[in-house]
Amino acid sequence: MLIDLHTHSTCSDGTQTPTELIASAERAGLNVIALTDHDNTGGWAEAEAALPTGLTLVRGAEFSTVVRADNGRPTSVHLLGYLFDPQSPTIVAEQARLRAERLGRGLAIVDLMVDDGITISREQVLEFADGAPIGRPHIARALIAVGVVDTVNQAFEHFLAGNSKYYVSKVDTELNRAITMIAEAGGVSVVAHSRSRAAARVLTAARFAELAALGLNGIEVDHPEHHAEARRELAGIAAELRLIPTGSSDFHGTNKTLVLGQELTSADSLERIVAASSGAVPLARQGVSR
Ligand code: AMP
Ligand code: FE
Ligand code: FE
Ligand code: ZN
Repeated sequence: MLIDLHTHSTCSDGTQTPTELIASAERAGLNVIALTDHDNTGGWAEAEAALPTGLTLVRGAEFSTVVRADNGRPTSVHLLGYLFDPQSPTIVAEQARLRAERLGRGLAIVDLMVDDGITISREQVLEFADGAPIGRPHIARALIAVGVVDTVNQAFEHFLAGNSKYYVSKVDTELNRAITMIAEAGGVSVVAHSRSRAAARVLTAARFAELAALGLNGIEVDHPEHHAEARRELAGIAAELRLIPTGSSDFHGTNKTLVLGQELTSADSLERIVAASSGAVPLARQGVSR
């Protein structure tokens, strides 16, 4: 069973439409794919409609959350939510707030760059986002288009990282609240790539124990940005706290240089995810859904 539980489409900062993503998953030989666009469920219906025989869809989203470090510093943590009710009023309202937050913050970053003589424009970035909640990868594409950088990676390295002079933060959902929100909507929560970037410093074993007590369901153990040592550590924490270990590519099309199915989740973990959900949003197969 090839199960990849974390991917992005053009409904956030991926480069393939949900339909194209599903076709890519079929070509890659996946049996199960989760669509987890940032802060929205806009791609669910299209992905479901595109399902070929033999491919199962896990409907999900990646929630932008924030957790305070011991020194009070806000740190970004991504939380995967699976099989939650997309009509949950709390989630709908929070996703709408985040969309506005992403728009304001994205345009603020663009303005700082324009003021500094970089020849991108607000319109250009909005065009790259094409209706999706704005993410830094959309700004990266504009920087490539005007020839300032050659790749998305370079754009992050020189212009978009958290320590860049153009960086503007956004107000994300408190991690605890996001976990509760997903649970209340019948879904299952898994902390994404906790050993990449700044999140590693705040997501200690002790913190994971608190989150598990709050209702967190799982930890993404295998992720392209995790080194072998991080994977061993996270697998240990998951086993200790009875959290579900997952693995996923975090595919973003050509916005990242990794392939679908590069990291995988076990059939056992998927079963545990389904069992932990309320069943309101079942796995989707061709022609079979709620
Ligand atoms: P934002 O959602 O605007 O805060 O931007 C974060 C997104 O940028 C992440 O979800 C990743 O998809 C992407 N990202 C972060 N770092 C890099 C990088 N070095 N290269 C490509 N994409 C990145
Ligand atoms: Fe992303
Ligand atoms: Fe992420
Ligand atoms: Zn992601």
